[in-house]
Amino acid sequence: MQWEKRVPSGMRYVSRAGDVITWSLEMPVNDDGLFGLLCPYSADHRFAMKVQSSGDSSGSGESDGTGEASILFCPYCGYRGEMDEFYTPEHRRRIDDAVKGVADQLVSDALDRITDVFRRSKSFTVTPGRRPPVRPLYSYTPEPTRRSMTCGTCDETYAVFGIALYCVSCGQLSPAECFTETLDVQRRVMSHLDDLPADIRAQMEANGVFTKIYEDSVKNTFGALEVFLGQVFRSRVTNADHVLRREGNIFQRLRHASGLYERHLGVSLEGLDDQAWPALLDTAALRHLLTHANGIVDEQYLKAVPVSRLQLGQRVHVGRAEAESALNVATSLAQALLAAPDSSTAPV
Ligand SMILES: [Zn+2]
Ligand SMILES: [Zn+2]
Repeated sequence: MQWEKRVPSGMRYVSRAGDVITWSLEMPVNDDGLFGLLCPYSADHRFAMKVQSSGDSSGSGESDGTGEASILFCPYCGYRGEMDEFYTPEHRRRIDDAVKGVADQLVSDALDRITDVFRRSKSFTVTPGRRPPVRPLYSYTPEPTRRSMTCGTCDETYAVFGIALYCVSCGQLSPAECFTETLDVQRRVMSHLDDLPADIRAQMEANGVFTKIYEDSVKNTFGALEVFLGQVFRSRVTNADHVLRREGNIFQRLRHASGLYERHLGVSLEGLDDQAWPALLDTAALRHLLTHANGIVDEQYLKAVPVSRLQLGQRVHVGRAEAESALNVATSLAQALLAAPDSSTAPV
């Protein structure tokens, strides 16, 4: 057999053109056919996606090294780089094995040719050595998919292992997708709490962990809504930067944000959902209290929520019901905004 065809399982000779020899190297994929990758920025940023090489439309993760370099994005931090920057240490070790295996066979082949020359000379007696064994490639088991996402813009499906706000392929999820991802993670946290054994739940409750989670959920939900309102506004108003230059954190102040939307897009946030709006104003006041006053009721809060039974100086209570209510009313407003006709045709 020719030396270039003496390759281990997982590697395949493809072609030879002059001095250029091409092999394909199969890389392990998980049960969903997704190829694990790692962000160069952080070793915690791992993800998996379908990878297609040239001449291979099956997405088997096989590469013959002739595919064009593709640009990828880390789904968690948005780091942008070429595919090979995202290879894991396991990939590199397997590729390294393949290269070393080829080098072994190449050197042996060259020595054989020298030996042939010596054999033709009457002055030397040379016994050809044995062929080097074919090195097996380093093998590993890719991580199974636990949660996958599909980008609404480019349709790429990828496995994630954390909060993901970027598409691995086109780089940017839509404002609506980012908002949903941020809120859904709060829902998942609460759902996981239900799965915990009773004694661990009781210990966590006593340690204040539940309260902390519910209070953070209210703050995070409102923060996500603020970002969402800003992104939708910017995507629909052509001179948004000019309009917003002296407005400060206007999307944090819901009534002001509603007026801004009405003036520039003909959509009053206040009029989108009669039930969600008053509850959202209460949530905004609660969030303000948690963020700036450690949850201690002040006069500003009592003015914002006149129906409150809380006394001045009392600390607010945020439980599961309050956290879920914040999620639900924020979701209702966002959905109503996306469904509302506006003066712009920009996609969101
Ligand atoms: Zn990253
Ligand atoms: Zn995409």
